[in-house]
Amino acid sequence: MYYDSVETLERGELENLQVDSLKKTIAIAMRSPYYRDRLAGFDLDEIKSVADIVKLPFTTKDDLRSQYPYGLLTLPREDYVRLHASSGTTGTPTAVFYTQADLDRWADLVARSMYACGCRKSDVLQNMAGYGLFTGGLGFHYGSEKLGMITIPAGAGNTKRQIKLIRDFNVTVMHIIPSFALYFASQVREAGFDPAEMPWRIALIGAEPHTEETRRKIEEMLHIKAYNSYGMSELNGPGVAFECTEQSGMHIWEDAYIPEIINPETGEHVEEGEIGELVMTTITREGMPIIRYRTRDLTRFIPGQCPCGRTHRRIDRITGRADDMMILKGVNIYPMQIEQCLMSMPEVGHNYLIELYKEGLTDQMRVKVEIKDEFFVEDMRVLQGLQKKIAKRLHSEILITPRVELVMHDSIPKSPGKAIRVKDLRNEE
Ligand code: ADP
Ligand code: ZN
Repeated sequence: MYYDSVETLERGELENLQVDSLKKTIAIAMRSPYYRDRLAGFDLDEIKSVADIVKLPFTTKDDLRSQYPYGLLTLPREDYVRLHASSGTTGTPTAVFYTQADLDRWADLVARSMYACGCRKSDVLQNMAGYGLFTGGLGFHYGSEKLGMITIPAGAGNTKRQIKLIRDFNVTVMHIIPSFALYFASQVREAGFDPAEMPWRIALIGAEPHTEETRRKIEEMLHIKAYNSYGMSELNGPGVAFECTEQSGMHIWEDAYIPEIINPETGEHVEEGEIGELVMTTITREGMPIIRYRTRDLTRFIPGQCPCGRTHRRIDRITGRADDMMILKGVNIYPMQIEQCLMSMPEVGHNYLIELYKEGLTDQMRVKVEIKDEFFVEDMRVLQGLQKKIAKRLHSEILITPRVELVMHDSIPKSPGKAIRVKDLRNEE
């Protein structure tokens, strides 16, 4: 059961399609001021196979910023109908423009993604992502309508209203940011409802890094199946890579993108199955094609074929952004290593915060960890024991011992958008 026959195209045919589309994309890209310059003199005959993509230059986020606002447009401005911008998590946002044909193809990719994890026309989707410049709002909205589902544009926040809508309209699919999903689960209980009795069956979660442990926690707390959804505004938005019902990696839609994984230092491809930086080329976009975009996201190709029968390659969940890496006492640490450790412990609630601070001249790390109510006992010895246990676990994962602070359930501020996992106070304290 597939949404589109292209999902099971035999690899050879898929690659032929990619080569054709790549050539078309290069020709279109060269109409933009940026790529006209960047690709000046490039001969399309140099592209004979997908592997020849390495002959093209990378495009970085800084390149996109330098072309803000119109430098990447391939068509006259009146041919565009929509603008989005990245959330700006790591600096100045980048603007992305779409023609109507781009929007139609994007909605189709999102519909295909939702279908792959079991959404059907008869489902009702509640979109709990923020609407606005963030692509998670309108991106899911139009994809869901394209699939034929009743689509509720609830937007982010206001848990009481969310719960009411879900119950009143028998919502079966939610699109929700993972860090908010855990908080939402506890709010549902607090409002007096049993998640097992709610009408939902599928949660589409993505937009920020999260671990397998967090996914399992969401599934348990909400009594739901949760599927990982990956995308970014520079590549349309959601619908770039998505889990199927196997839940074993995200299929990258290779008829729309050519993925590569490189060593971020050398720019060379890593060995199949090794972790590196994901590099993506759009091959069906006309208004703003992007060639060899360095996403800064770290992942690996999952070797082998997916039992679902789709031939498009899978990537593993994103372990983090290259920019998220912290270096402490000479050790490289990613927030997801800490999350993985914490979320596998039964005492830990659903939120945590990593703070970096200075003590004298040395950098230190403090991890604030929310503890479930039932473990927040009055006996200091018990709490100290737990604190030590967490510190020890973290040490075995990240090789340094951070200061661990236990805090009450729901005491770390929570936003309905992307979670902030690390606060750098090194210049403040
Ligand atoms: P910003 O880069 O400003 O956050 P976007 O809203 O376009 O802008 O977010 C895209 C980024 O969000 C990706 O590059 C990636 O780092 C992160 N992201 C999106 N989906 C996922 C996911 N499923 N898992 C991990 N990270 C994700
Ligand atoms: Zn699959």
